[in-house]
Amino acid sequence: MAAAAAGPERTGPGAIALLGPAPGAPSCPHGPALLFVKTSQGKEEGRRFYACSACRDRKDCNFFQWEDEKVSETRLAAREEYNRNHQPSFTHQQNVDRYKNFVLFPLSKRRFCQECQQLLLPAEWEEHSGHQFLCGITTAQLKSPSQLLYPLENKKTNAQYLFADRSCQFLLNLLIDLGFRRVLSVGTPRLHEMIQSKASQEEEFSVRSLLLDIDFRYSQFYTEDEFCHYNMFNHHFFGGEAAREICRKFLYEENGEKVIMVTDPPFGGLVEALASSFKKLMAMWKETEKEGHDNKEMPMFWIFPYFFESRILDFFPSFSMMDYQVDYDNRALYKHGKTGRRQSPVRIFTNLPPSMIVLPEEEGYRFCSVCQRYVSSGNQHCEICNSCTSKDGRRWKHCVLCKKCVKPSWFHCNSCNCCTLPKHSCEKTDIGCFLCGKAGHKRSACPSLS
Ligand code: SAH
Ligand code: ZN
Ligand code: ZN
Ligand code: ZN
Ligand code: ZN
Repeated sequence: MAAAAAGPERTGPGAIALLGPAPGAPSCPHGPALLFVKTSQGKEEGRRFYACSACRDRKDCNFFQWEDEKVSETRLAAREEYNRNHQPSFTHQQNVDRYKNFVLFPLSKRRFCQECQQLLLPAEWEEHSGHQFLCGITTAQLKSPSQLLYPLENKKTNAQYLFADRSCQFLLNLLIDLGFRRVLSVGTPRLHEMIQSKASQEEEFSVRSLLLDIDFRYSQFYTEDEFCHYNMFNHHFFGGEAAREICRKFLYEENGEKVIMVTDPPFGGLVEALASSFKKLMAMWKETEKEGHDNKEMPMFWIFPYFFESRILDFFPSFSMMDYQVDYDNRALYKHGKTGRRQSPVRIFTNLPPSMIVLPEEEGYRFCSVCQRYVSSGNQHCEICNSCTSKDGRRWKHCVLCKKCVKPSWFHCNSCNCCTLPKHSCEKTDIGCFLCGKAGHKRSACPSLS
């Protein structure tokens, strides 16, 4: 599309800010586009434009339109056709039928095409004859699709990082101990799959999960009551009203079955878009019950890096960050701590009382009776701040001039009048960092990246 080339780059000079979902926004194959504004330095008002909500890489979806742009009938028609052509080749319903069919075949006839990421029925083998495939797909493999499918690691768009087994198990046990019986799994296919497979194997296991994810490949393995094709950046249900209704029903706490939402979104600057969608899911939960929910919020675990803490709290003041380090199978983001143990920057943010979140003592977490929460072993209680101040698990030090605790590697710079990295240029940028939102540096110099 030529129009895309005319659009601004998302990095580079000037800043791009998200204004959010807008009524009447045009759609791309990923649902309604989001409204952004590009401001250039020196100019007060920026020009607004729509861009794809899900893909921050132009290569994945190049949808672009200035807000004030007149779009011709021809272009509108072309866009509609383009959106239609970019729908998956099978519907969810068709995939459910295919699955039922697939499991009727003996192992020798069960193939999975690795190139198309698709279960193959014998009649389809021919079409995929040049493709790499796996044979003898077992029931166990069908129950853990996250292992069968290759993770979409495209950083900017899907960023599929799967929980390490230990972390996934920890999350599930935590949810069960907290008394939850229903889990709305938003972008957490591995947690969903752990719940589903336990439910099918253990009779007393009574937890249920509904997966909401943009990765349509999962529709091959789950029914419409178990998976909704969903975009968490614009709260779009691809299955329309029927899918929305399934989600609504799931959130209705029948027989007192308590619901919690667990989400592990891709990171990238769109915290406000995520927050807006999560608020809509919370509202959906609230509307399901006439009484009882009065002033309560749907319980939630938002799994995200610690350096987004202030951004998340801006949108959800009732949340707090837990010290637990969420581990992944395929994540290259780890630092190597002193102990040689991988240090994940990813944490759990929750609106449940922190004292209820019991972290494993065998992994070094301990309870701080003053803070009334579990903290990591390196997180020392600072008498001056009167709290356990470390965010990254290392021991932080108190700066009397800044009147707060700072990272061990920082020092107080008198010309900047604050604590910062020893290597920095003593000048400030007034626009906040695109990544962490803090003033004082640009995205490229964000301390959260180091
Ligand atoms: N740790 C999780 C996976 C997190 S990776 C687990 O192991 O279960 C991020 C997940 O969010 C992926 O499943 C990805 O498909 C999904 N995702 C990415 N963009 C999305 C979007 N716009 N809407 C909904 N889900 C999305
Ligand atoms: Zn194929
Ligand atoms: Zn403390
Ligand atoms: Zn302190
Ligand atoms: Zn200082």
